Amino acid sequence: MRRLTACLFVASLFLAATHALPSRAQTPGPTVFEGAYVIVGDGSAIEDAAFVVENNRFTSVGRRGEVAAPSGASRVDLSGKTVIPGIVDAHGHPGFLDAVTGQLSKANFTRENYIDHLQRYAYHGVAATISTGTDMGELAYKLRAEAIPNAALIRTVGRGLAYPGSGPFDPSRNDVPYAVTSAAEARKAVQDLAPHRPDFVKIWVDSRNGRQKKLTPEMFTAAAEEARNLGLPSIAHVYELEDAKGLVRAGVEGFMHSIRDQEVDDEFIRLAKEHDIWITPNLGGINRPSLIRENGTPAWFDEPLVRETIAPALIRERAQTYERRKREGAPPRPLFDAINTRKLHAAGVRQVLGSDAAGDGNRWLGLQTLLEFDNMVAAGFTPMEAIVAATRDSARVLRLDQLGMVAPGKSADFVVLDANPLDDIANVRKINRVYLRGEEVDRAGLRAKWQAQWREKGML
Ligand SMILES: [Zn+2]
Repeated sequence: MRRLTACLFVASLFLAATHALPSRAQTPGPTVFEGAYVIVGDGSAIEDAAFVVENNRFTSVGRRGEVAAPSGASRVDLSGKTVIPGIVDAHGHPGFLDAVTGQLSKANFTRENYIDHLQRYAYHGVAATISTGTDMGELAYKLRAEAIPNAALIRTVGRGLAYPGSGPFDPSRNDVPYAVTSAAEARKAVQDLAPHRPDFVKIWVDSRNGRQKKLTPEMFTAAAEEARNLGLPSIAHVYELEDAKGLVRAGVEGFMHSIRDQEVDDEFIRLAKEHDIWITPNLGGINRPSLIRENGTPAWFDEPLVRETIAPALIRERAQTYERRKREGAPPRPLFDAINTRKLHAAGVRQVLGSDAAGDGNRWLGLQTLLEFDNMVAAGFTPMEAIVAATRDSARVLRLDQLGMVAPGKSADFVVLDANPLDDIANVRKINRVYLRGEEVDRAGLRAKWQAQWREKGML
């Protein structure tokens, strides 16, 4: 009996500690944030708003004067600012990039570096992201259970499934997924994953322009079926329209990247709507500094935010790349993912924001998420629709129901902007402050850490 009591006591201590995890000792009582233009995340906005944050959550949100401030609440004046919900990025590959030097390597895949990436997301207003198929060992599963101050939350699919060599493109992690060459191996891989309870089973189906073998319909159908049997949803990296149709029929619920070999047809649109499929279009990348192919330096490259987190040597290197591309001229080629994003959006198929950072060294962590807003707007989203796709809708697909909106009961994750992104979507990069789980992210501290690393690593 005494032992039981002791156990209960320890358990209650543990519960108290877990419950208190996101807050820090100096957390003040309730705080009222007043005067901002609040973009709620559901398509609506509140002018001259007030909202109350208490115990890491929004407790009240409305027009100033209609929101009762709890007694003793401190006040923060946000007049002239715009607030959006903390962003949820539904496609990423953290861990391998040295964000200071731009080098990708397995040797970088440490807890410290992984957290650094989650801090870079937080710096840019990203409240949560998901690692889509390149996690080694237990690290990401452990981090998933934590709420680290000044860092985004992480979700993970663990290791994805791919035909050997046709998974993640970058050599640093090309061999990380389960190597699948038969339906039996596909089932076995899913059975091996299941005890970790990954957020999804991730399946790569991409021949990389015919250079690689890819999973056959028999193999990917076995993977999706086995996942369903074990209570796991599945998602796929796809390239070709016919594979996408097969994957929907196999029961995959979401796609990383859009269809890129041709325009989607009515049959795919019908299938996608019938099955309520979601897609992260991932329209960015070095080869397309913006969706409207620019020869030369994209406008965002000169924004102050870039200089805050990216080492001067990396910026110079990128500037040279843009200059070279300008001299060479970009080869003309139809951008089917952009065409399809527009077409699927018009048809009402769900599309949510995913950056695919750091799928290669050129997609700068955090910044790439914010650039994807521009790409989605260029592909037919209104700024308001892009914000919903990057907050409420992306939170929903990741089952992060506490995120994605400035609304009572939700986690107090929000970004304070100096200008309104409904006027110009580029204003999502005019970040004044970021709050995650009710705490202001220490952006000055993070900047100081990174800028010291530029010197240490010879990247000035
Ligand atoms: Zn990816």
